[in-house]
Amino acid sequence: MKRSNFKVRKKNDRVSLTEDIRNHVIYSLSKEVKDASEWDAGKALALALRDRLVERMIETRDRYRRVKAKRMYYFSIEYLLGRCLGNNLCNMEILDLCEDIFKDLGYDLDEVRASERDPALGNGGLGRLAACFLDSLATLDLPGCGYGIHYEYGLFRQSIHNGYQKELADYWMKEGMPLQVARPDQSVIVPLYGRVESAATPSGDYLPMWVDWDDIIGVPYDIPVVGYGGKTVNYLRLFAARASENFDMDIFNHGDYIRAVQRKIESEMVSKVLYPTESVSFGKELRLVQEYFLVACGLRDITRRFLAQNKNFEEFADYVAIQLNDTHPALTVVELMRYLVDERRIEWDKAWEITRATCAYTNHTLLPEALELWSVSLIEKVLPRHLQIIYEINSRFLKKVESKYPADNEKLRRMSLICEDGTKKVRMANLAVVGSHSVNGVSELHSELVKTRLFPDFYEFAPQKFNNKTNGVTPRRWMLKANPALAALLTDTLGKGWITDLNELHKLEEHINDSEFRARFMEAKRTNKIKLGNFINSTLDINIPPDSIFDIQAKRIHEYKRQLLNVLHVIHLYLELVDNDVEPSCSRAFLFAGKAAPGYWEAKQIIKLIHSVAKVINNDPRAEGLLKVAFLPDYRVSLAEKIVPACDVSEQISTAGTEASGTGNMKFAMNGALTVGTYDGANIEMLEEVGQDNFYLFGLKQEEVEKALREGSYHPREIYNHSPEIRQVFTALLENRFSPDEPDLFRWLVDKLLTDNEQYMHLADFKSYSEAQKRIDRDYAEKEIWAAKAILNTARMGKFSTDRTMLEYAEDIWKIKAVK
Ligand SMILES: *Cc1c(COP(=O)(O)O)cnc(C)c1O
Repeated sequence: MKRSNFKVRKKNDRVSLTEDIRNHVIYSLSKEVKDASEWDAGKALALALRDRLVERMIETRDRYRRVKAKRMYYFSIEYLLGRCLGNNLCNMEILDLCEDIFKDLGYDLDEVRASERDPALGNGGLGRLAACFLDSLATLDLPGCGYGIHYEYGLFRQSIHNGYQKELADYWMKEGMPLQVARPDQSVIVPLYGRVESAATPSGDYLPMWVDWDDIIGVPYDIPVVGYGGKTVNYLRLFAARASENFDMDIFNHGDYIRAVQRKIESEMVSKVLYPTESVSFGKELRLVQEYFLVACGLRDITRRFLAQNKNFEEFADYVAIQLNDTHPALTVVELMRYLVDERRIEWDKAWEITRATCAYTNHTLLPEALELWSVSLIEKVLPRHLQIIYEINSRFLKKVESKYPADNEKLRRMSLICEDGTKKVRMANLAVVGSHSVNGVSELHSELVKTRLFPDFYEFAPQKFNNKTNGVTPRRWMLKANPALAALLTDTLGKGWITDLNELHKLEEHINDSEFRARFMEAKRTNKIKLGNFINSTLDINIPPDSIFDIQAKRIHEYKRQLLNVLHVIHLYLELVDNDVEPSCSRAFLFAGKAAPGYWEAKQIIKLIHSVAKVINNDPRAEGLLKVAFLPDYRVSLAEKIVPACDVSEQISTAGTEASGTGNMKFAMNGALTVGTYDGANIEMLEEVGQDNFYLFGLKQEEVEKALREGSYHPREIYNHSPEIRQVFTALLENRFSPDEPDLFRWLVDKLLTDNEQYMHLADFKSYSEAQKRIDRDYAEKEIWAAKAILNTARMGKFSTDRTMLEYAEDIWKIKAVK
């Protein structure tokens, strides 16, 4: 039977859009047009947009089906999406038109957009990367979708009281989420707990039976992901946990109906809240259940789709690729094995070949506290059959290792999926490596360290698996949408090509000596700085002159990211000014933003320190016009979009070897900020692209950090003894100049930074950092020189578009092709 292709009918012109907005006011919101508020109009616009996205989503699905495209499924426990309305209008290329339509209706679309809550289903870099990937996949017409959890509460909102962080619940769907499409018809059942009974097939084979399990329903919600130009609309499928209607028969039969219902309702906790930690793993049962829930829902969905087209699982990996975003979804390896072996009765070796050809793993961090270990007893309780499979995978794997390295028990111990020190634990990273055909790091340096420091045995055993995929960010959200002033100039100068081919920006170099172009570039920066200045003034009542250097460190608060190094330097500049009469040659505003994990005491104290220092400096008339310090609360994507375009100096100052890639660094630089940074993560590759003259490099290199810490030769007290600057700063802290009402508040930090082998080596880099900052002062004073450097940063950041990143993954790992 001949099928006709699905046709998109909704038009994107003024008449159709206006008509649809009116219709939605009446038929969806049940109001008369004359009674509709600005807010109602916004809702109606979102619904009109949804109609268009949904049509194109169906058309895209139809297109993928027709060519039986191989698809990639991105498994991630986090997606830090940011606001959707403006981004979708932007990618559909109807933002200006809609602004116009709203003006005609007497409304302001900007206000509507500003009232949208950020869906913040992620902590930081890892979740934001996933969101940028989705944008690029759709823009490149690649069949790749995201799978995740539909958390009811996203990352906590941060408010500040007396300089301390307070966490508030983030009920992100309070005003609804008009763009999502619920798909209860495609719900899946996820079994948990219970026990395994051994049985045999009629032919005598081992037949394990997972029995007495509890179950949860996974209900998918699809969020359309539109590529730039509006042709391809992929989706992000998020699963919400719902209680099943199967009652616990035991309790039920005892007549305790209410308790039976209650037990069921508790299972909905699974998708209730996102864990608020980045780069730390806790052994919490609920988190393990979340990780399994994502994997189980995702795989059930994928196998159902596969079966609709193909019954032959030998071909599974020809049609399905799964990318594991860190080890959180590493149970994919086990669940896919269970499905193939137990449910499809495929023999083990074949199933293993299929599983490994399907899965690929991205490592995101080397920090030991982030490596996931789950106790064997917990896995046995939650997933008894999976534990058996993990043991079977392990024993077969270790046999192979043993045949290659006979009698090397140390090696077997290191490579085992089971850690036997103390209570037995499953090493999720080892599981992910063993069960995948590809293991990648996220920058050149990080990928080297993954091979040589994290998994040296696995690298020696199977070197061909290991590869690098340097991160990126999407220029649609981070330039086109976030920085309309710069985007207009770029399009004026180069045409629109740069939006989907960021390497086009190289052509800006032809304009570097054009004084009018330079002036317009810096004018755009100034416009953004005034906007951010007004925002800071109206929210924090701090007045920042637009001609100051906007020096910004915005990211999660973590000791390895070294916000402390930044603050120490700010204190140093202040003391130079008020105690030593040394004025900086440029006025500077030091801006900070970032959330601390709720249980991370040091990080929360750092937030308090920033506020305490800000209070003293901002209220000292001697610093007026020279130094300002501000902490912008509740860092999230929408705030980043305000901050990034206004930045002159981007602080990327992690201890070398600790930041896997960073992506904040890229957002700032492509918007014309200069980086003051260490030789770490993707900073190294950015430096390579923009050139030494356009990047303020400082600090120890990774090998130097590693050597000092390995040999135990880092003695910060010696540095302190030889540095009058550091002594002056620490003395001020110990004399409570920033904590007059709370003596000794910051003593902990002095003690910590002076401890032998302090692991982030703050003081070792202080001098070099402070010298880099002096160079910045000198260069900024030369307006023309600075303008040229800023332009070259934008011009040379083409590599860091996630379009490039996604094409590399598609070719090297997933083997998927664009379907146009
Ligand atoms: C980009 C981004 C991050 C990651 O920043 P890094 O500097 O790479 O740590 C974290 N949070 C938000 C809201 C972001 O937009």
